[in-house]
Amino acid sequence: MHRTTLGDFELTVVSDGTYFLDGGGFFGVVPKVLWSKKVVADEQNRVSTGLNSLLVRTGTKNVLIETGIGNKLSDKMVKIYGQPAALLENLHAVGIAPDQIDIVINSHLHFDHCGWNTVRSADKIVPTFPRAQYYAPEGEWQYARRPSERDAISFIAENYDPLVESGQMKLLRGGEEIIPGISVRTYPGHTAHMQAILVESGGKTACYISDLIPTSAHIEITWGMSFDLYPLQTIESRKKYYAEAIPERWLTVFTHDPQTPWGYVEGGERGKLALAKST
Ligand SMILES: [Zn+2]
Repeated sequence: MHRTTLGDFELTVVSDGTYFLDGGGFFGVVPKVLWSKKVVADEQNRVSTGLNSLLVRTGTKNVLIETGIGNKLSDKMVKIYGQPAALLENLHAVGIAPDQIDIVINSHLHFDHCGWNTVRSADKIVPTFPRAQYYAPEGEWQYARRPSERDAISFIAENYDPLVESGQMKLLRGGEEIIPGISVRTYPGHTAHMQAILVESGGKTACYISDLIPTSAHIEITWGMSFDLYPLQTIESRKKYYAEAIPERWLTVFTHDPQTPWGYVEGGERGKLALAKST
């Protein structure tokens, strides 16, 4: 169980389980001789990939950042990725029922980040978290309506369209403060409009950096994923992120790391970028 306090807030990592991604896809142009020192691939070159959501208890609100893969994948997608569907169980294990979530925030709308936004009930798609106000980047939603051929497979409209139509999902431009201490910031690279979620309390900051830095093995600025639509922007956004996150000692939350869901990145100018040994 990964839990910590940040000022007045309590942060808990809640996982939807693990799924498989192709190791080559996960590490982009980085040769396997290098990445295989950090991550072990199976006989099909697949690597186990985490699905970490972050639960923030502010004292008055329960905020859920990201909602994993969910349970609505097609049979074909289940064959490729698996469908662990563990988020609700893991929320229950930390004492949270779906109707106790007040706010849900998605960094972007790829299927492995917003899957539990909704569930199928009889023939209808309904919100998994009935009382929650949902938030997602407006640019992401616009793009998801007409995605490129390259990443069309990554979007499942049932995860967000019904919520936008009913008004339960609000669309964000980037830069908004959702509630005191929780705000979003756009970091282009993985997609054009992906937003990181900043959590600030008592002079401390945590950042759910999402697919800009998906795991602790992706800390180096050039270790981007093949899935990134704008790889050069990934590098620029990482530099911008580290320029604040390292000196200000932000707790970085890794969306896809199955073992190390968060940590403090150190180094930069003078030293190699690495995760601090003790947190
Ligand atoms: Zn993504």
